[in-house]
Amino acid sequence: MRNVLVTGGAGYIGSHACKALKAAGYVPVVFDNLCTGWEDAVKFGPFERGDLMDRGRLDEVFAAYQPIAVMHFAALSQVGESMSNPGKYWLNNASGSLNLIEAAVAAGCLNFVFSSTCATYGEQDNVVLDETSVQMPINAYGASKRAIEDMLSDFGASHGLNSVIFRYFNVAGADEAAEVGEFHQPETHLIPLVLDAIDGKRDALTIFGTDYDTPDGTCIRDYVHVCDLIDAHVLGLKWLEDGKGSRVFNLGTGSGFSVREVITRSTAVTGRAVPFNEGPRRPGDCTKLVSGSVRARDELGWRPERSTMDRMIADAWRWHQTGHYDK
Ligand code: UDP
Repeated sequence: MRNVLVTGGAGYIGSHACKALKAAGYVPVVFDNLCTGWEDAVKFGPFERGDLMDRGRLDEVFAAYQPIAVMHFAALSQVGESMSNPGKYWLNNASGSLNLIEAAVAAGCLNFVFSSTCATYGEQDNVVLDETSVQMPINAYGASKRAIEDMLSDFGASHGLNSVIFRYFNVAGADEAAEVGEFHQPETHLIPLVLDAIDGKRDALTIFGTDYDTPDGTCIRDYVHVCDLIDAHVLGLKWLEDGKGSRVFNLGTGSGFSVREVITRSTAVTGRAVPFNEGPRRPGDCTKLVSGSVRARDELGWRPERSTMDRMIADAWRWHQTGHYDK
């Protein structure tokens, strides 16, 4: 059995990872405290409910499944909340990950795939980022993720822990078969909020800031299809299994979309108007976060072919219409 411990496997990105891992011949063992995840998203392997702060529970699960690797998705990920409640982010993300890393090392599980973020880069004057760009996070979420990257590097030096770190740009879309998809409570992400506004499940979308230094005044982000993102994780796992050692990869497409452009494309794809209004900036938001993925393409052979804005909106819309949002 090639068990892979998937923390956060009941969440949006983690549940897509479990589906792909199963298809690739692994057994995804989900470890999740369900603080933001959904038990009915755990469909592709065993479920172990547990909290990263509970070291005893982690040790138990490592002993029971003897995973060949960890894929670590479990984290709090709201930029705005991380600015108003940074302690929550440092405790859950940084301390929780430290527990997990120590438990993995103690169990002899030395392959670790980590979901990090472009928020570790911070503001960089409209450049296209790459993995060597300096990391200067401007919010506690990004800072907590950068700290975990540092931990992985230190445990690599001290204990031979091998890590593949993926710095995500904005993840969007859903499984084409709509078996799993994006559902956060509360929802804070742009595309699901746009789709909710379109069909009246929520109030009008508020654009957070229209005075940024971008062509239309709204923030620019680089959106990646969740299934493409997960393809990279399976390639990263193989990279580790092949003994290629620790490496950091950005996962972006190199093209950015402004908030207004996302609204326009959503109307084009769904054929429905997006009710919206314009509001002030959200604390912690960077003007522009865009990355090429030259390294992931060259070294992992990653091909993010589903990551067109229209495809991401169409897949998210299909999932949205399954009614999972109406639970
Ligand atoms: N955004 C917005 N209104 C919303 C939610 C998000 O204008 O109700 C903007 C946000 O300011 C950012 C972009 O949409 O520029 C993407 O935000 P999201 O929260 O989806 O992802 P993040 O970039 O924070 O990871």
